[in-house]
Amino acid sequence: MKKSKGILTLVAATMIIASSCTRGSSDENYPIRPVPFTAVKMTDNFWAPRIQKNHEVTIPIAFGYCESTGRVKNFDIAAGRDTGKFQTIYPFDDSDVYKIIEGASYSLQTYPDLQLEAYLDTLIEKIGAAQEPDGYLYTNRTIAEKRGEAPHEWAGPVRWAEDNHLSHELYNLGHLYEAGVAYYQATGKRTLLDICIKSADLVDHDMGWDAFVTYPGHQVIEMGLVKLYRVTGEKRYLDLAKFFLDARGTRDDGEEYSQSHKKVIDQTEAVGHSVRATYMYSGMADVASILEDEAYLNAITKIWEDLVYRKMYITGGIGASGGNEGFAEPYNLPNMSAYCETCASIGDIFFNHRLFSLHGDGKYFDVLEKTLYNGALSGVNLAGDRFFYPNPLESNGQHERSAWFGCACCPSNVARFIPAIPGYIYSVTDKDLYVNLFASNTADIQVGKNKVGITQETNYPWEGDVKITVNPEKSGKFTLQIRIPGWARNEAIPGALYTFAQQDEGKYAISVNSEEYSAEVINGYAEITRKWNSGDQVGLSLPMPVRTVVADERVKEDDGKYAIQRGPLMFCAEWPDNPEGQVLNLVIDETPEFTSEFRSDLLNGTEVIKTRARQAERNLDGTISLGDYENITLIPYFLWANRGGGEMRVWFPYKETSARPKPAPTIAYMSKITGSIQNRSLLSVADQFEPSNSNDRTWPYYHWWPNKDKWEWIQLDFKDLQKISRLKVYWFDDGPFGGCRVPDKFEVLYKSGNSWKKIEPLAPLAVVKDAWNVVEFKPVSATGVQLRVKLNKDFASGVHELVIE
Ligand SMILES: [Zn+2]
Repeated sequence: MKKSKGILTLVAATMIIASSCTRGSSDENYPIRPVPFTAVKMTDNFWAPRIQKNHEVTIPIAFGYCESTGRVKNFDIAAGRDTGKFQTIYPFDDSDVYKIIEGASYSLQTYPDLQLEAYLDTLIEKIGAAQEPDGYLYTNRTIAEKRGEAPHEWAGPVRWAEDNHLSHELYNLGHLYEAGVAYYQATGKRTLLDICIKSADLVDHDMGWDAFVTYPGHQVIEMGLVKLYRVTGEKRYLDLAKFFLDARGTRDDGEEYSQSHKKVIDQTEAVGHSVRATYMYSGMADVASILEDEAYLNAITKIWEDLVYRKMYITGGIGASGGNEGFAEPYNLPNMSAYCETCASIGDIFFNHRLFSLHGDGKYFDVLEKTLYNGALSGVNLAGDRFFYPNPLESNGQHERSAWFGCACCPSNVARFIPAIPGYIYSVTDKDLYVNLFASNTADIQVGKNKVGITQETNYPWEGDVKITVNPEKSGKFTLQIRIPGWARNEAIPGALYTFAQQDEGKYAISVNSEEYSAEVINGYAEITRKWNSGDQVGLSLPMPVRTVVADERVKEDDGKYAIQRGPLMFCAEWPDNPEGQVLNLVIDETPEFTSEFRSDLLNGTEVIKTRARQAERNLDGTISLGDYENITLIPYFLWANRGGGEMRVWFPYKETSARPKPAPTIAYMSKITGSIQNRSLLSVADQFEPSNSNDRTWPYYHWWPNKDKWEWIQLDFKDLQKISRLKVYWFDDGPFGGCRVPDKFEVLYKSGNSWKKIEPLAPLAVVKDAWNVVEFKPVSATGVQLRVKLNKDFASGVHELVIE
């Protein structure tokens, strides 16, 4: 475990670093450099209020939860200033505090706030006190050792031993380093940076090719170390980042889940846990940009193609599967069970931003913009105080935002991501100024030797007209590169996973000083090279007709359906805006007509789209009928779930056969359904969608997780007296990685008068997986049925479907 490095060398190195830190731009190694958010002042009605809300609401409540859940107290206990056991659930809970400090540091640069800064100083002091003398920082183990107890089962018996699996020691540190650099750049204070350096020196001492060879089970330290390298100039940190990447795939206990199944340079597909994945790909891009590593570039290029061409949702969300919180097989993109973790969207934005900075190709910003305005932004509500962890594309009301989560990665990621958004708008080289995203703002940008003021005026994303005023300090020649989004060039998304159903006539237009300008579009950017004078104006007009999008036919889930897009936004139908609050059974026209309008009274002001649709209903004989045409209203996807739980959908069937009809009036559907865990997904047991197996997540199901080893029940109170003789139940069982199995046994009771009686089955009741469990019994007249279920000793259980005949 030890490297032969004297402590004196470490001290000397730290002292040299102390004098050579730079607070300047942090991405200078990239050929195309992002203009930092600190150089961009937002003046718009879209992002500026959200950044303000993040400062005033999200960051304070996130710190509040860190206090109330014991995340902060963990540092005090580790420091010996307080007593008790480790207060929280997971050993990675330290990372939330770091991420929110990072977000608060960004936010301070837009909203100077002495009170917040003072609070950060107290937190940083606590973190420093919790750090062990040799630099080790991981409150779970430090607390356990103080108490003479074993640490968390994920932590492993000794430092680092389990890091390639679940200890998250290096994961915490990656977020610590990002926070330390952010706080230093925001305030000039070295306190947290020095804690990072002490920690990174220990990691560098303990791990490496000539020491303990391992890698983080959850990536992020790679990006953190590169930031630490950039700010300190200490090349050991860069080398360490590369070591952690290159060590993957060299041990025999690697897993696809953590992208350690192969060497990173041999990976060609996006697999495993999607947050881990995008953080790793981002780290590879960082290292590749500095070391000009072709093997890394080849790998992340292939991975990007796999991800965008085969595994991304139309919202930009990634990671279809909840079981591994990650990628599923190509084209397997279910909508209601779509995982699309908020963190994965943010990670994918990091990845695409870095690829753009390497290659200058607009396709990366096409993905970034799609994710930003849809799959990522849906992660936080309008008030800034409720969050989504998964961001599904369809709901029957079972999805609602939460104020916080036991695993709180998503809110803390939102807190640090939102204030940094202005940093994506511009990029620069010595001769090019790139306008990547559109929002009203003013910016000061160094282009070569010239300082250029830029003003954007626009009502994007609601309208597509953008006015750009260029104010160079002195007249000079450079190229203004203006992104022409793929959606304005008849490309729904790079690649062919999603395409517009019809090609569009409308063309974007560019003017310079009010005269039409015919610019060449290269790699998605219109190039305008000229001698720029102060006050020069560029006009960009991007028509925003409402358009229908179809998926590659291999995406079975979207067969016979349209997604509806206007500008960069995907739209959805949500319950409050539509007839009877029902949207899941809608069928729209094959060539729908749309109107759109801005509604200032709705959801803080939003564009809405209107079209007509019919409701599909299943009849008792199994046939499907369509009702009369009704007008429906669509809102931007990112705005859903601001008005409580209910139905929502992004993909709209235009074929009857793809519809999700309203259930037929069966005994079960007409009953009042209650359960020992009461929630909306109870309704799914009578929705009349037959699963193809017990682990089929295509349709919603009801479960009793995390309960186990006890009796649970579902009760149906019939609408009126029924003569019944048969019950069919289909169990939910989410397999070896899930928490649900078929139950040990079950029994069926019926209600006769005021009492519950056991049915008299014609054959013994047996539990079967992946099939209907049919119970035939002596006919009885009943006003209700109760299914009583004994859960396995170690697992919960659930029910897909319940039929009474
Ligand atoms: Zn998350």
